[in-house]
Amino acid sequence: MSVAICPGSFDPITLGHLNIIRRASKIFDHVIVCILYNSSKTSPMFTLEERADMVRRSVSRYPNVEVAVSDELLAEYAKKIEGAVIVKGLRAASDFEYEFQMNLINKHINPALETMFLTADGKYTFLSSSMVREMAMYEANLDGLVPNEIKQDIIQKAQVWRKKNG
Ligand code: ADP
Repeated sequence: MSVAICPGSFDPITLGHLNIIRRASKIFDHVIVCILYNSSKTSPMFTLEERADMVRRSVSRYPNVEVAVSDELLAEYAKKIEGAVIVKGLRAASDFEYEFQMNLINKHINPALETMFLTADGKYTFLSSSMVREMAMYEANLDGLVPNEIKQDIIQKAQVWRKKNG
C-alpha cells in the first residue's frame, strides 16, 4: 500500500493545503495529514487539537485521508510508517530553498525517507495560513481561501483575539 504524509502546521488549513491533500489522495492509496508542533512558529492561532479538528472536518469527504498530530521531528515520525513518502506543496522559488534544506535534514535523520513536491495550483500560489490569520484579524472575507467547514472557527477565534488585545 502506498502512503503519503502531508505535513504542516495548518494554522489554519487553507484551500491551498486542501488542494495538495486531495491530489495526493488520488495518487496514493492512503494519505496521513500530519499536524506538527512547529517550534519556529511561536504563537499559533489555534491549539494542535483545534487544528486537528478543523483538518478532520475539511477532509471528511476523502475516505483514504486520515489526520494525525505529532510533536516529533517529521523524519522521526515517518520512520514508524513503512514506505511512507512525504508530499508537500511548492508555491514559489522562496518555498523551494526552504524545502530543499528541509529535505536534506530529513535525509540526514532518515536516509530512506523520500519527499515529493506537487506544484501549487495557480489559484492558491499566493495563499498561506499567515495570510488567512492576518485577514481574519481585519475581519476580511475568507470566502475562497479556507474550507467552508472551518470559516466560522477562524472568525470566532479572531473575535476572541481582538477582544483580548484591544
Ligand atoms: P504555511 O506555509 O501556510 O504556514 P504549513 O507550514 O502548514 O503552511 O505548510 C504545509 C505545507 O503546505 C508546505 O509544504 C507548504 O508548501 C504547503 N502549502 C502551504 N500553502 C500552500 C498553498 N497555497 N498551495 C500549495 N501548497 C501549500
